[in-house]
Amino acid sequence: MRTDREGMLVVLSGPSGSGKDTVLGELLEQVDDIEVSCSLTTRERRSWELDGTHYYFVTREYFEDKLKSGGILEHACYNGNYYGTPKTPIDEWMAEGKTVILKIEVEGAARIRSMYPNCVSVFLVPPSLRVLSQRLYRRESENECEIERRLEIAKTELLHAQDYDYIILNDMLDYAVSDFRTIIRAERQRSCRRLYLIDEVLQDAEC
Ligand code: 5GP
Repeated sequence: MRTDREGMLVVLSGPSGSGKDTVLGELLEQVDDIEVSCSLTTRERRSWELDGTHYYFVTREYFEDKLKSGGILEHACYNGNYYGTPKTPIDEWMAEGKTVILKIEVEGAARIRSMYPNCVSVFLVPPSLRVLSQRLYRRESENECEIERRLEIAKTELLHAQDYDYIILNDMLDYAVSDFRTIIRAERQRSCRRLYLIDEVLQDAEC
């Protein structure tokens, strides 16, 4: 029986424009002890994005070197660019017993699920493709061609939602955040993550 206090790995996926950043931002305001992984990407930085906060924006050469040296836990190619999760912070946070959230697409999520069978996977779904399209056009961060490509990718991503532990509908932001918070609270109490408590009770020398 494993009784040490392990971290909890949470994978959050959902089509581009489904609201992952917004939901996650609200969740971080409400729940303590959460770390969010900052990925490496070779895609161009959007005007409001900060290097080291939204992503580490790197060259293809840097990414490929890091991949070769084993510094990337999982990676995927999305719309012609590399995206990858740096390994070291994840290992450290997991060893510290933290809840660690990876905001990644479906291929990377599948890899994480096979590497960490105890991880919790959550898929955020928009109410409709029409709403998704409106959101992508409204945020004005990609041109029309790029948005149409993202919408095509979204259709295939939606077919993978069934592989996840949970599907959250992001129609009303407050409900989506509340659903995500409930999942995290419940998963933190799962018996495999709470055995250290039993250990502590049994080791109580007073009785
Ligand atoms: P965006 O270009 O919109 O920031 O991200 C495109 C997609 O790549 C999103 O679905 C996002 O969640 C995903 N993504 C971001 N970082 C990573 C990563 O480290 N690994 C994988 N597999 N996907 C990522």
